[in-house]
Amino acid sequence: MQPQMMANADEDAGLFRHKIIDGKAVAKGMRAEIAVRAARLIEQGLPPKIASISIGDNPSVDLYIRNQKKAAASTGIDFEHLKLDLTVGEAGLIEKIKELNATPSVTGIITQRPLAPDISIKKVQVAIDPTKDIEGMNPASIGNIVYNDLDLGPCTAVAAVELLKSTPLNLQGLEVVMVGHSEIVGKPVAFLLMSEGATVTVCHHMTRNLAVHTRRADAVFVAVGKVGLLTGDMIKPGAAVIDIGINRVTSSDGTTVTVGDVDFDSCAEVAGWITPVPGGVGPVTVAALLRNAVVAAERMAP
Ligand code: NAP
Repeated sequence: MQPQMMANADEDAGLFRHKIIDGKAVAKGMRAEIAVRAARLIEQGLPPKIASISIGDNPSVDLYIRNQKKAAASTGIDFEHLKLDLTVGEAGLIEKIKELNATPSVTGIITQRPLAPDISIKKVQVAIDPTKDIEGMNPASIGNIVYNDLDLGPCTAVAAVELLKSTPLNLQGLEVVMVGHSEIVGKPVAFLLMSEGATVTVCHHMTRNLAVHTRRADAVFVAVGKVGLLTGDMIKPGAAVIDIGINRVTSSDGTTVTVGDVDFDSCAEVAGWITPVPGGVGPVTVAALLRNAVVAAERMAP
């Protein structure tokens, strides 16, 4: 059935009554399943443990780490954070990662961004043992999804696809447009969707006419980092809209809010399903990280 027809069931006076995809609810369901798997591992004497590393002081990173730690605790996953001094440098950080790679009780490693400007993210991602790469960012992990080995996929991409899967849409043969083709979000989303049987078009800054593509899609994913990039006139009535963007915007009264890449109000008038920002991809990304943590620990079981 076409998404347009399904959304029509909720049609009200000629307008589509969009459904907000609740990322917090999707994440809660995932955490319940993760908790069962973590308990099984603990029973077997193989407790999953995440080692998280950050560099220097950054209040928003610290808040994010506290949220990750709380979410991990709610599933029974151990979470240890190491805050390194700004002076650690690339070699020092990689040394620490090697130490954690060799620590048997650590089953998953994450590095909190931003790192220091003199540190190559790519070198750090390569240094993490792929078996402990629960962010799914090591080139080996990204390569695996090309071969349909999806279990340790990049968390944000996995989360975005999970949100589409929470709708009644059948992904097989679904026309999907991915706007943005970064290594950590856009490209992995495209591969994950292809593995689900979707027909995927990937758009980027050189795409000649973005709206021509987005208007014919049953589902549109956006991961660019541009406020208001996707507007209601650019989508098909009844389409699903998954907003991955995170932008901090200061209003005229001086308050700062977080918004996505999608113009929510105009898209909500036309969409069948839409994710909010915040409360959409973000919470599911943390749940995807925890699911990767149990997958990595399960794979280490003898
Ligand atoms: P990125 O590496 O900067 O990539 C942005 C992508 O957008 C590039 O592929 C770029 O294409 C494309 N692009 C730029 N202008 C465009 C335009 N006008 N039309 C279409 N495509 C355009 O960013 P990223 O790391 O993928 O992150 C994207 C957004 O997602 C950011 O807002 C980021 O904060 C957010 N994010 C969210 C989460 C989460 O958990 N929710 C996690 C990670 C990132 P070219 O390379 O061709 O220029």
